[in-house]
Amino acid sequence: MKLVVQVRLLPTPEQAAALEATLRAVNAAATWVSALAHQRRVFRNYDLRRHAYGQIKDDYRLAAQAAQHVVKKVADAYATLHANIRNGNVGRPGSARRERALATPIVFRPGAAHPFDDRCLSWQLEARTVSIWTIAGRMKSVAFTASADQLTTLAAHRRGESDLLYRDGRWFLIATCDIPDRPVAAPDGFLGVDLGIANIATTSGGVRHSGKTLNAVRHRHRELRRRLQAKQTTSAKRLLKRRRRAEARFAANTNHIIAKRIVTEAARTGQGIALEDLQGIRDRVRLRKPQRVTLHSWSFHQLGSFIAYKAARQGVAVVYVDPAYTSQACSSCGHVAKRNRPGQATFSCTSCGFAEHADVNAARNIALRGVTGWAVSHAADDAA
Ligand SMILES: [Zn+2]
Repeated sequence: MKLVVQVRLLPTPEQAAALEATLRAVNAAATWVSALAHQRRVFRNYDLRRHAYGQIKDDYRLAAQAAQHVVKKVADAYATLHANIRNGNVGRPGSARRERALATPIVFRPGAAHPFDDRCLSWQLEARTVSIWTIAGRMKSVAFTASADQLTTLAAHRRGESDLLYRDGRWFLIATCDIPDRPVAAPDGFLGVDLGIANIATTSGGVRHSGKTLNAVRHRHRELRRRLQAKQTTSAKRLLKRRRRAEARFAANTNHIIAKRIVTEAARTGQGIALEDLQGIRDRVRLRKPQRVTLHSWSFHQLGSFIAYKAARQGVAVVYVDPAYTSQACSSCGHVAKRNRPGQATFSCTSCGFAEHADVNAARNIALRGVTGWAVSHAADDAA
C-alpha cells in the first residue's frame, strides 16, 4: 500500500529564498516546456526531452536531473489531461470546456509541487534535516518537523521521489512510502461504522465520534465566507482560499483521529470493520444545500479511505456493505419501518420494542451485513 507522509520544512530565511527561487525556476521552465509541447504536439517524455532539455538547462539554470524532472512532470501532466479528456471528464466532444482544455497549454503555478528524487534530495532522519538541490547550490541542513510515527514510517518505507511545495506561506515535503500490507486475520465478528453529520462516526460497539467541533468550524467558516464573498477584493479572495484550506486540514485531522480510534477498537477486539458503501451517500444524506452534500460526501470518502489504509496496516479486515434502510431497520428483529425512528437520535422498534440510539442501531445493522458480506465473499476460501 502506498501512502504519503507530509512534513513541514523550517528553512532559514536564506534557505527559504533558495527554495522559492528553485520552485519558481522549475515551474517557469515547466510552463515553457508545456507551451513547446503543445505547439509542436510532442507529449511523450523521451521525445519532449530531445526538444527541450538543453534549452531549459541553460535558460533556467537547472541541473541535469532537475531538467529531466521538469520534462517528465510536463509529460505526466499531459498524459493525465489526455486520459481525462478520453474518459469524458473534461466535457463532451465539442463542449466549450473540452475545446478550451485542448486549445490551451498547461500552465504551472510558481509554487506548484515539484518532484525531487534521491539524487536531488537526501534525508537525515535522526537530525530531522534534509539536503536539497536548489538553483543556488545544494542546501544542507534544512530542518523539518515530523512526529515519531512519521519518522518511523519514513525510515522504513520511503521510496522514490518526494514533492516539494509551497502553500499558504509554508514549505512542505510530501514523501511517498510503500508499506507492505499485513496479512488480514480472519475476523471474530464485525465492528459496524455508521457515518453521519451530528455524529461523524458511530460504531456498533456504542462509541460515538461527535461532529460538534468540526461542524462548529464549518459553521464559522460559512459565516466568514458570506462576509468575504460580498467584498470581492483580491485580499478577501486570498483569505477565503486560506480559510478553505485551513478547514480542509482540520477536517482531515479529525478524520485521522477518528479512523485511528475505530481501527484500534477493531484490532483490540479481533473484529473486522464493516463500512457503508458510499455510492449511495447522496441519497441518504438529505440536506438542503447541494454543496453541503458534496462537502460531507467528500469528507465521508476521506474517513473511509483513512480507515481502510489504517486497517490494512494492522491486518484488520474491511468489508463494504449496502447502507440501504440501515437507519429504519431494527438491529434486533429486522423489522423495517419509518416509524421505528421517531426522532433524529432515537430508534424504537414498533414490532419488538428494541430501543437504542439511532446511530448505534444503524451501526449494528452495518455490522450484521458485514458478517454476511464476509461470509459470501469468503465462501470459496472455506471450500478450498
Ligand atoms: Zn425489532
